[in-house]
Amino acid sequence: MSAKIIDGKEVARSIHEEVRKEAEKLRSRGIIPGLATVLVGDDPASRSYVKAKRKACEEDGIQSFHHPLPAETSQKELLTLITQLGEDPKVHGILVQLPLPAHIEENAVIRAIPPHKDVDGFHPENLGRLGLKGEEALFAPCTPAGVLELLMRAEVPVSGARAVVLGRSKIVGLPAALLLLRNDATVTICHSRTKDLPAVTKEADILIAAIGRANFVTAEMVKPGAAVIDVGVNRVEDSRKKRGYRLVGDCDFEAVAEVAGCLTPVPGGVGPMTIAMLMKNTLRAAERASPQSFDPRNHL
Ligand code: NAP
Repeated sequence: MSAKIIDGKEVARSIHEEVRKEAEKLRSRGIIPGLATVLVGDDPASRSYVKAKRKACEEDGIQSFHHPLPAETSQKELLTLITQLGEDPKVHGILVQLPLPAHIEENAVIRAIPPHKDVDGFHPENLGRLGLKGEEALFAPCTPAGVLELLMRAEVPVSGARAVVLGRSKIVGLPAALLLLRNDATVTICHSRTKDLPAVTKEADILIAAIGRANFVTAEMVKPGAAVIDVGVNRVEDSRKKRGYRLVGDCDFEAVAEVAGCLTPVPGGVGPMTIAMLMKNTLRAAERASPQSFDPRNHL
């Protein structure tokens, strides 16, 4: 293996530590950073994500306000709650766990979150600002923000680099591409209709894989020395595991590690960064709410 393996757990740990210190400073000025979590229904995966987010809040000195709602909650009831949370000065960030039950229109709910409390970064105003040069972007979505943070902390040069993003979802691919562009990379986005994808990926100094297909990216698709960030999380059957499966990324890890300059593992790469960046976004929101604290580091 020649690639340097980027340890996302370690980077996430240092971000949590930084958030904890900053949260303490805010507390000493009388501001307690607060995150409202809203969970509609009882999907086990969503429940465990929200639990992990609340645990991180507790560890990082962020107050969490949890709102578990029954699956039959109407869209109107949910929108009323979001309006209340939007007006609550103790709440600096609002996180509505997705996906929502089918009878609720996800985009209407995201639009109802005030942009300055949109710590998930999915509001069209925040996503739009991310792509507009000269506009202040309040938040970037947590997973792609984590991708950028990993690149920065691994000292991968982004400005001027040729970056290829596999995937164009609102949650990962598109905002990852916008963030790379904002940081002056030359960006290509690939998706299911892209022709001759290996020829495109092979050009990349930075390759972000976010498509959700196990072992899709092979060594032949990677330029020697490229920085490869694997966002994919896929289950593959494994009878040796008690639960019957193991998690793998979108890259053929062993083979890509022979070619890439650096690479993130799955698990232990981008995964731990998502919650760390949510904490960072919440802290930013709380800092902005403090009248005396304009800090350029709070702006993307
Ligand atoms: P998604 O909404 O399903 O989007 C997948 C994207 O990949 C789409 O843009 C799709 O293209 C593209 N795609 C699918 N098959 C392709 C193919 N064969 N060739 C080229 N492009 C293809 O998924 P997502 O929410 O972005 O998530 C992507 C992966 O990241 C998943 O494995 C997910 O579990 C993982 N993820 C991880 C984290 C984390 O680690 N914290 C967070 C979020 C997501 P079209 O647009 O043309 O359909």
